[in-house]
Amino acid sequence: MAYDEDEAEGVWIYCEQEKGDIHPVSYELLNKGRELADDLDTDLTALFLTPDGENTQKFISRGADRVYLLEDDRFNYPDEYPFKENIVRLVEENKPEIFLIGATHFGRSLAPRIAAALETGLTADCTGLKIDEGEFVQIRPAFTGNILAHISTDRCPKMSTVRYKEFEESEKDTNRDGDIIEKEPIDHSGGEVTILDEMKEEEVNIQEAEIVVSAGRGLKDSQDFELIEELCSAVDGKVGSSRPLVDEGWISRNHQVGYSGKRVKPNLYIACGISGAPQHLAGMKDSEIVVAINTEPSAPIFDHADYGIVGDLYEVVPDLVKQLKEE
Ligand code: FAD
Repeated sequence: MAYDEDEAEGVWIYCEQEKGDIHPVSYELLNKGRELADDLDTDLTALFLTPDGENTQKFISRGADRVYLLEDDRFNYPDEYPFKENIVRLVEENKPEIFLIGATHFGRSLAPRIAAALETGLTADCTGLKIDEGEFVQIRPAFTGNILAHISTDRCPKMSTVRYKEFEESEKDTNRDGDIIEKEPIDHSGGEVTILDEMKEEEVNIQEAEIVVSAGRGLKDSQDFELIEELCSAVDGKVGSSRPLVDEGWISRNHQVGYSGKRVKPNLYIACGISGAPQHLAGMKDSEIVVAINTEPSAPIFDHADYGIVGDLYEVVPDLVKQLKEE
């Protein structure tokens, strides 16, 4: 059940682990959570539900004052039910004021279940969080990114999901002290999900890439992605895409950059035949260097590019590949 602000205390972070690896969004949340906790003069607590608690100390080094550790084999699989049951119990026992979860695939599925069970609100996909005159303010794009809504709530816990790559990771300090509190998981037989088989997802992680070469509707045919792939391999990058090509089924959604796709922050982003709609810019505007190739000199992408090439991508891209290969 939700509770009032005057009963609530502390900032909580859900730390996600996938197949033994801590998701980097956990370190980003620890960084922002530390800042919020310091501003409220309170503690930062990490929740870690895992089949194996080996990594737990890392959350203390990255800023947590305390970690609740729950070890159970059921936490090896993305079955929201045992996670939700255990997290709701911990929240009810401890009454945190603020609770942050990464807006990963799993976090997006888990957070609303927890919020519904606690009968509290949830602000999804936050891009900013701050304390303003003692109030927790959640900032997120609204109306497809044209305005930034500032949202505050009075029911606790105040829950937000936060996009990956929105904040910097916290620094590691191995001298930090903190408490690791082991909790016995609630023993519920069976969750809502039965894993029948595991299929390997296409391994594309454009969010980690240092160079991304993206194609847009300037591409005339799905086969022409070969051109983009050639440029990509010449610069050792990953292929990205604007949404229309994904909607056409020319490339999988894992490659989509933008508001409803992935957010990337590479050192180099090459946009080929992309107009620069706000929803696309939302996914790549923090790239270090942007190169745009477009036939239309007035394309908005040029306002956000460090280098602009006005030209036909079918001529420019092969030229670039040729020159890069010659070097
Ligand atoms: P266009 O806008 O059609 O631009 C194509 C460009 O290619 C033009 O500028 C043209 O001059 C240029 N061009 C044409 N031929 C050539 C050539 N031979 N060589 C070089 N240049 C050429 N979009 C996203 O990308 N990502 C998202 O996550 C996303 N989320 C959205 C969410 C919502 C709720 C909504 C409403 C929209 C979203 N969109 C998203 C769609 C977005 O609004 C745009 O429609 C989309 O980004 C346009 O893609 P584009 O730039 O490839 O195509």
